[in-house]
Amino acid sequence: MKNSRRHFLQSIAASAFAFPVWSAAEGAPYGAAGSQERVLRVALLGLGGYAKRVAEAIKDCKRVKITGLISGTPDKLKSWGSLYGVPENSRYNYENFDRVGDNPDIDAVYIITPNALHKEQAIRVARAKKHVICEKPMALNAKEGEEMIAACKAAGVQLLVGYRLHFENKTTAIIRMRQEGEFGRIRFFQGLSGFKIGDPSQWRMQKKLAGGGALMDIGIYAVNGARYMVGEEPIWVTAQETKTDPERFKEGVDETIQFQLGFPGGAVASCLSTYNMSYLDRFFLNGEKGFAEMQPSTGYGPLKARTHKGELDIPHVTHQTLQMDGMAALLLDGKKPLVPVDGEEGLKDLKILDAIYAACASGKKQMLKL
Ligand code: NDP
Repeated sequence: MKNSRRHFLQSIAASAFAFPVWSAAEGAPYGAAGSQERVLRVALLGLGGYAKRVAEAIKDCKRVKITGLISGTPDKLKSWGSLYGVPENSRYNYENFDRVGDNPDIDAVYIITPNALHKEQAIRVARAKKHVICEKPMALNAKEGEEMIAACKAAGVQLLVGYRLHFENKTTAIIRMRQEGEFGRIRFFQGLSGFKIGDPSQWRMQKKLAGGGALMDIGIYAVNGARYMVGEEPIWVTAQETKTDPERFKEGVDETIQFQLGFPGGAVASCLSTYNMSYLDRFFLNGEKGFAEMQPSTGYGPLKARTHKGELDIPHVTHQTLQMDGMAALLLDGKKPLVPVDGEEGLKDLKILDAIYAACASGKKQMLKL
């Protein structure tokens, strides 16, 4: 009886997603005891600092389980394998991970490697017919982003970007207030995103692996935040770059960029992206009837938010736990998040990043079509 119900659910799942979502392992595809909700089985690709944070957060997820590991470091495959209970036959390296296609215990692969590797790895995952979850920035530029979207579309899999703040409770509360008209017509957004970067030999400081500097890594939060806070797509960009330490921040690795975005409703955004200032994590939204302020606004939290009505008293939940359970609902149940986290969303940010760099280089206003 139990088995026939499972086989029925399996066939629905297979037809809805056109990829294997069923594990032969007893109990694997379901959540907490008694729950009928399927569990998203994820392989982590690239076992670095952020992957560690994601892996720990998944322990508290109701609907996500780590069932695969992909790494270039054999020792990590061993230690993470035993820590997260991933069997040897679901551990891969960068040469052989295309074989995830034959693994019925993996639904999606979460790419958490240096930015320059995202495109090729995403295309390989898509060809293996597994959903792709990719860290920000989705790729190095819009052209690469378009190739990733095309590959996922051709393979019939979904492409999501690790925009954890789209699932964060204070952020979504402010977005809802704006949607309900609490702030009135939006006039202004300020996004300040930066930190003082350490070790100059790390991949974030190499154009080849990072695709740029602070803008690709941290400034993207102000770009993405401007869009979800204002609730419109920008139509123009201006930008100015300053570099106080060209020794440290080599050619193509931006230290500090200020940029401005213009929105069709008349709002403007004024943003700062930097690798050379501390305590820079602030969003401010101003409308004709009120304001919202978040500081910190994009760090791992707890975030702090207040509006013209007072402090937002909403408990902190680990962002990556919310994100991963949210992504399970999206991939397995077809649910829609308040703000999209799909490849098209990632591509819009990449188009803006391209335009910011073009504006810095030319000194001219860049028009945008998102
Ligand atoms: P780390 O340097 O800590 O880890 C990257 C991992 O990628 C390495 O440990 C390594 O894992 C693998 N890797 C493969 N090739 C290389 C290479 N050539 N150089 C360096 N590492 C390589 O980086 P992060 O985890 O901080 O960042 C990874 C991605 O996650 C980036 O795209 C970043 O923007 C994003 N990120 C997102 C955050 C968010 O809040 N959404 C926060 C932090 C980062 P292995 O040894 O297993 O092969």
